[in-house]
Amino acid sequence: MAESTTISNTENLLKYMSLDQRGHVQAEYIWIDAIGGVRTKTKTLFKAPTSVDELPEWNFDGSSTGQAPGDNSDVYLRPVAIFPDPFRQGDNILVLCETWDSDGSPNKYNYRHEAARLMETHAKEGFWFGLEQEYTLLGTDGWPYGWPRGGFPGSQGPYYCGVGTGKVYCRDIVEAHYRACLYAGIKISGINAEVMPSQWEYQVGPCQGIEMGDHLWLSRYLLHRVAEEFGVKISFDPKPIKGDWNGAGLHTNVSTNGTRGDGGMKVIEGYMKKLEARHNEHIAVYGEGNEERLTGRHETGSIDKFSYGVADRGGSIRIPRQVAKDGKGYFEDRRPASNACPYQITGIIVETLCGGI
Ligand code: ADP
Ligand code: MN
Ligand code: MN
Ligand code: MN
Ligand code: MN
Repeated sequence: MAESTTISNTENLLKYMSLDQRGHVQAEYIWIDAIGGVRTKTKTLFKAPTSVDELPEWNFDGSSTGQAPGDNSDVYLRPVAIFPDPFRQGDNILVLCETWDSDGSPNKYNYRHEAARLMETHAKEGFWFGLEQEYTLLGTDGWPYGWPRGGFPGSQGPYYCGVGTGKVYCRDIVEAHYRACLYAGIKISGINAEVMPSQWEYQVGPCQGIEMGDHLWLSRYLLHRVAEEFGVKISFDPKPIKGDWNGAGLHTNVSTNGTRGDGGMKVIEGYMKKLEARHNEHIAVYGEGNEERLTGRHETGSIDKFSYGVADRGGSIRIPRQVAKDGKGYFEDRRPASNACPYQITGIIVETLCGGI
């Protein structure tokens, strides 16, 4: 058999992508699956919607995604947010959806519904969040992109915020993703290359309430989708390479009207006591495989013990030096793993600091 070769069809594709759509809109319905991935399917609309309420509900075969049993497989897609589509462009849109079962209850993997209710109940607290999404780029063989096959690059040091050949990998994908996020209206606030080569970070925020989870999930979709075009895999594994290599987290920065106002440090100290009391409940929803990462080494705190401090990157929570100096601002929960669900993280933070629904 002839060896298969990869042919770039980009130029051919462009010819078709510029064909007139005759007034139709392509709506990419996006949902979160059972394993923290994203799935999508496309629907033709006959005119551009002006708000999310105008979009029809849809459904998918939940037995094919592990989200429903085969004998009752329809799962409903309820549109919750619209974004401009950077791939198809024009009037075409990305549609973020919640998943609902046929009996009218939220699907088991629909973590947004509960989070949105918590945000609504405690809206007057003025929650702002900022997430730092770390991730690793892998070749199709599953080994970090650009690493010697089956081997290792030189040890950590030159890579963090690195510049130059051999110090930084996949800048093209990172740049493409950054611009795609800006086009789509995602509140992406920055990027940096990470400590482990082929690991990167982008930040989203500050976002208010449920917008945090929506924007972060959309940014993850865009990252997978961009990397697909470059033939590279995205891993959100919190410890992709064992040993003396940094893991990947989803640092969660939090503030409220109370922490941002005068006397905010006192409010933050009160919050620390509440967070300490529910450390285990938080860890339970802060990502799979996080025990490999939260070892107390590589700029992490230990998974078994809550701690916090000013400018402390070896604790559960860091209060930035500037915040201590100003006496107000925000704090950084460093515990969440890169693969955690932002709806679950922000939801439990609101619940712990303010109480349930
Ligand atoms: P680090 O020093 O931990 O690497 P980054 O600059 O990567 O910090 O990320 C800081 C994050 O904090 C950003 O996502 C930003 O949006 C967020 N942030 C800044 N101010 C606030 C605030 N008042 N409330 C919540 N999040 C904030
Ligand atoms: Mn079919
Ligand atoms: Mn950061
Ligand atoms: Mn980082
Ligand atoms: Mn951080």
